[in-house]
Amino acid sequence: MPLVSSSGEQWFGERERVGLEQRIQVRGVLYEGRSDYQSIRVLDTVPFGRALILDGVLQTTETDEFIYHEMLVHPVLISLSQPERVLIIGGGDGGCLRRALEHRLREVVQVELDRAVVETCRRYLPRVSSGAFDDTRLHLLFADGYEFVEEAQEPFDAIIVDLTDPLPPGPSLRLFTAEFYQLVRRILKEDGLMVTQSSSPLLLTDELLRIYVNLKAVFPLVRVCLAPVPSYPGVLWSFTLASGGNDPLALDEATVRQRLEARGISPRYYSPQMHLASFALPPFLADLLAEPERFQDLKASQPVAQ
Ligand code: SAM
Repeated sequence: MPLVSSSGEQWFGERERVGLEQRIQVRGVLYEGRSDYQSIRVLDTVPFGRALILDGVLQTTETDEFIYHEMLVHPVLISLSQPERVLIIGGGDGGCLRRALEHRLREVVQVELDRAVVETCRRYLPRVSSGAFDDTRLHLLFADGYEFVEEAQEPFDAIIVDLTDPLPPGPSLRLFTAEFYQLVRRILKEDGLMVTQSSSPLLLTDELLRIYVNLKAVFPLVRVCLAPVPSYPGVLWSFTLASGGNDPLALDEATVRQRLEARGISPRYYSPQMHLASFALPPFLADLLAEPERFQDLKASQPVAQ
């Protein structure tokens, strides 16, 4: 979407698939370019500070990135008593990487499709990664995450999937399928966990349910947790975790606190109370996850002409 000008002000409008346009006031454009994979923009916004936009879709902002990245990374890594080796797929802004490294890991492998996203974020959004790309424990590869996972042999304690939305014909589409989750499970250690961002439970319910159903087809245990990300459409956002049995909800507050302290982590959103609270689902969502097919029934019963 172009920047629109209304009474002399500049606004970024992200047109959603659900008929909602969220507008954010912009002070200026810090970077605008095109890589082999997507258009890349960094905007200086009034409410959220600097923001990364890929193909017209807002990815992350300086103001609320901590909520998104902490909730994508900490619940999974705190569920492991001693995580050592972690895989991040996507996540070119470095926010996930920074939080993962806080867990005193031995090694992080990050597979990002687009070198230009990392270079742009290091230059224009340095606060998001906060130096994490210089950490010697990082092996950063510029490749397709699907192909990497297909070929990978050595197992990981956790796999964090931080991808652009599954929009056709986008490069992330096949990384939201049951086939991909099967490949992921093959390279997860026995008590390992994976997590993926899973969209808006309210506005893009079909995306979340598709991800949930695909993960359920592969993993015995699948959990959804929620957090508010104000710059994302609908604010309320979901994250879906999956494992062979390791249950993030089996942790008590004391264990979460003890692990955070032992690792020297002081998050700004995530906490022992938040760990448990974020997995508490409102009844509308719990009902849908219990019978995801009901959502399609609902849609099918809507009048054809709207
Ligand atoms: N938090 C963000 C969101 O959901 O709005 C995701 C941010 S992160 C910048 C998304 C990254 O996924 C992008 O840098 C993009 O290049 C990367 N990506 C997309 N498809 C990919 C693939 N097939 N393999 C690896 N990385 C991919």
